[in-house]
Amino acid sequence: MKKGKLVVYTGYSGVGKGTIMKELKRLDDKVRLSVSCTTREPREGEREGIEYYFVTKDKFKSLIDENGFLEYAMFCDNYYGTPEKPVDELLEKGYNVFLEIEVQGGMQVMEKRPDCVSIFITPPSFEELESRLRGRGTEDEETINKRLARAQEEKEFEKYYTHKVLNDTPERAAREILSIINEA
Ligand code: 5GP
Repeated sequence: MKKGKLVVYTGYSGVGKGTIMKELKRLDDKVRLSVSCTTREPREGEREGIEYYFVTKDKFKSLIDENGFLEYAMFCDNYYGTPEKPVDELLEKGYNVFLEIEVQGGMQVMEKRPDCVSIFITPPSFEELESRLRGRGTEDEETINKRLARAQEEKEFEKYYTHKVLNDTPERAAREILSIINEA
């Protein structure tokens, strides 16, 4: 069987990665999203093992020591990491595996797996990003401000990504991503 493609899928907090991901899954049954580990608290409605594996900082550190992560990073005071084994198992089965990760992790994967496809999702404008982040109402003011500041820093990393996709509408963005992957 043909191996699937590994996709580094990055974009600022609030840009709409989750909504585009729903479209990707609806449009293509070969799309799989890797489930990361994080030390942040679950948001309302988030389920263990579906959106994330929610772990303590000690547990996260022991997973680092066991070399369990393909990549990991600290983002706004919490650790996030991609368990390596499930990713490789899905790739072997022919699935295209998306890693929805921030830029430091994205850079690690591009280095370790140069055959990956790297995609950066951009907002129509930073004003739009701010209103989306506030509009979803899942974070307090301090967290929103941290995430907006972090978005400005992440902008510097856009240039390392092979493909930039504008999220004007989630369905159009998802279709563009699928055509990038099919041509890669
Ligand atoms: P959130 O807290 O909004 O779910 O995620 C915060 C940021 O961490 C987002 O940019 C998200 O893409 C990123 N992220 C989620 N999982 C991982 C991961 O496993 N590794 C890295 N490096 N970043 C991740």
